[in-house]
Amino acid sequence: MPQSDGFFTLAKVNGGVTCFFLPRTLPGGSYNRFFVQRLKDKAGNQSNASSEIEYSGTLAIRVGAEGKGLREILSHAHLTRLDFAVGSAGLMRQALTLALQHTTTRRGFGLPLAEQPMMANVLADMAVEVEATTLLALRVAKATDHLETNAQERAFARVTTPVAKFFNCSRAPAIANEALQCHGGNGFIEENPMARVFRESPLNSVWEGTANMMCMDVRRAMQRDAACRDAVLAEFSDLRGQDARFDAFVQQLGGLLDATLQDEFLARPASEAIARTVQGAELLRHSTPEVIDVFMKTRLGLGAGAMFGALGPSVGKAQADRIVDRARIAR
Ligand SMILES: Cc1cc2nc3c(=O)[nH]c(=O)nc-3n(C[C@H](O)[C@H](O)[C@H](O)COP(=O)(O)OP(=O)(O)OC[C@H]3O[C@@H](n4cnc5c(N)ncnc54)[C@H](O)[C@@H]3O)c2cc1C
Repeated sequence: MPQSDGFFTLAKVNGGVTCFFLPRTLPGGSYNRFFVQRLKDKAGNQSNASSEIEYSGTLAIRVGAEGKGLREILSHAHLTRLDFAVGSAGLMRQALTLALQHTTTRRGFGLPLAEQPMMANVLADMAVEVEATTLLALRVAKATDHLETNAQERAFARVTTPVAKFFNCSRAPAIANEALQCHGGNGFIEENPMARVFRESPLNSVWEGTANMMCMDVRRAMQRDAACRDAVLAEFSDLRGQDARFDAFVQQLGGLLDATLQDEFLARPASEAIARTVQGAELLRHSTPEVIDVFMKTRLGLGAGAMFGALGPSVGKAQADRIVDRARIAR
């Protein structure tokens, strides 16, 4: 983003890939030297410039140890990943609000659209999803507030931050698509805010690490520190006995997490299962019986994920490879 006042960047030096900070303004008040080669023509997010840049005679201040750039820059990513999880929950809420407004005020076949049975089904389903994704983001935000003071919350946040970025950012385009359809043709017209929400919705899942990168990080965190896996499972202990469907799901979660430590193929279903369990727990703590009931009936169940990449242990990599090979062959 060339308009920023400072930039973190990686560069290869003798000791390996290293992290640097570039200030836009030099200590004397003049501008730091760098060259914007071109602005990128993006599919969305157009009011926020992105560019290719070249450094030459640029002042760069080393951040962290030489050769440890990747680790250093990732250590700054925790807050921005949380930001994307919260931001995508906000975007989904905006899409839902716009859909509710249109379907409540527009009448079709003698009724407001929102009162037509199928539309009521769509709106309620979206509302449950938006509430669940919001609660997931806020639970991770709460853990982030305690990073310095509480080891359990730190371990929980270490796993659930990439979980929440993966889950919420991947769900946003699906919600935006449904909300756009609720508007009919006008949803696709630029005068309506829905078109912009739709274009914006996939971006948070791409920058600062795609879904696969997040799920890889979830697995890495649990592999490196058993406290991370334990912190996730400990999160649900106070809820035991409140809802049998939730208890059954929690009971299977530990096994899936253990299998994931051995098999990267399962990183996505495991990340989705963590997301769904945290959402279920937060709904039990904060929501109404009706919302909880719909969530437990429709969202919990290993092997029936909402995401792509949800194929579980009963499928496995060899079967997936054969299916991909078949898809590759022109028929
Ligand atoms: C608007 C915008 C702004 C951006 N700003 C920045 C920025 O400021 N700084 C910055 O560094 N980057 C930025 N990015 C880049 C973005 O973070 C990268 O696109 C992203 O990290 C993926 O890297 P890549 O494009 O090289 O994809 P590729 O490496 O080609 O990856 C393609 C896909 O394969 C997946 N993949 C790769 N390896 C594996 C694996 N081993 N297992 C499974 N899947 C794998 C990736 O997750 C991805 O989904 C920005 C992108 C956009 C769109």
